[in-house]
Amino acid sequence: MNVRGLRAGLQRLEAAQLYRRRRVVTRADGVELEVAGRSLVGFCSNDYLGLATDPQVKAAFMAGVARYGAGAGASHLISGHGVAHEELEQALAALVGRPRALLFSSGYLANLGLLQALADRHTQVLEDRRNHASLLDATRLSGAHVQRVAHADAEAFARVLERARDRSCLLVTDGVFSMDGDVAPVSALYRLARAHGALLLVDEAHALGVLGNSGAGSFEHSGTPADEHSVIMGTLGKALGVSGAFVAASDAVIETLIQRARTYIYTTALPPGIASALLAAVHIVRTEPARRTRLWERVEQFRAGAVARGLPLLPSATPIQALVCGAPEVALRLSERLAERGFLVPAIRPPTVATGTSRLRITLSAAHTPAQVGQLLTVLAEEWRDP
Ligand SMILES: *Cc1c(COP(=O)(O)O)cnc(C)c1O
Repeated sequence: MNVRGLRAGLQRLEAAQLYRRRRVVTRADGVELEVAGRSLVGFCSNDYLGLATDPQVKAAFMAGVARYGAGAGASHLISGHGVAHEELEQALAALVGRPRALLFSSGYLANLGLLQALADRHTQVLEDRRNHASLLDATRLSGAHVQRVAHADAEAFARVLERARDRSCLLVTDGVFSMDGDVAPVSALYRLARAHGALLLVDEAHALGVLGNSGAGSFEHSGTPADEHSVIMGTLGKALGVSGAFVAASDAVIETLIQRARTYIYTTALPPGIASALLAAVHIVRTEPARRTRLWERVEQFRAGAVARGLPLLPSATPIQALVCGAPEVALRLSERLAERGFLVPAIRPPTVATGTSRLRITLSAAHTPAQVGQLLTVLAEEWRDP
């Protein structure tokens, strides 16, 4: 591939309305953003509980830097595993009710490491076809036999499992699907995994801190036992407001990851100040359920308002709400109109979502006021009717 080939590729993306551009955010205070000198209310971040700009979390971050320095200096297995990392792992294990947890630098890296360490060419991986890109990449790179299964369909998983009798099997799913906002049939998948001696892996990126009475995620929400038949991956840059990720599981899984997961072993540990900030965030998730109550009130307000205005949202009972527009240029135009009227709601296009399903992906936060949600509904309904 030479430079001329790269330019031609970029022009094709541009012509297909699939070119991606970044915006420089010059100020961010909760959901209020300043982009190119304009004030916008963001309905697009994954900061569901408003913890990214929470004063306690910020203060803990700064105190952590003052106490431990700016960086970890080495990987966990050399000298980078500090007392803040250790305490955070224990707090995360307790949050999700598992014996142990292990920190990773990001959810993407955690998924790559998990699949590489737990699967090989003798393993049959069954994965929901709408899983997050990091899981799709992770299963492909693991070298396992991979079968993509119909979306959120436990019976389809059961049929593939029947055929895979003798192989060791790994069932892999998002807990909350990141682009549609619907939830996985976690209880049914758990029962299947247990019955077949398989392991269920659930990516809790959009469920942690959000679902369940104490914010523990899909297992708590669906009343599914959190035991050795499953492994969870949770991210720390979404509802937890900071950055990083963890795997929570049995001692045997965690020790296997420490010994074998290359994305754990060969990378620098997260800065310890991040771990300090996350300890404060976990504490808030556990002790301030009112934030989740507020979040659910906004979700209900938005859905009820959208139904009343005839906006065809995808079915979703989570803070991720999708309004499918079809062609990428339609989604882009709607997104631009909303920006002109003060709302940042980016268009999501292929390959992130399937061709013909370009959409606005609206995410709600406990930091939104009822007035902001009401104004978005008004503007959205006007622009949707008059495309
Ligand atoms: C965001 C996300 C990830 C990646 O997590 P990062 O920490 O941002 O790398 C993984 N899985 C799902 C479902 C996600 O939404």
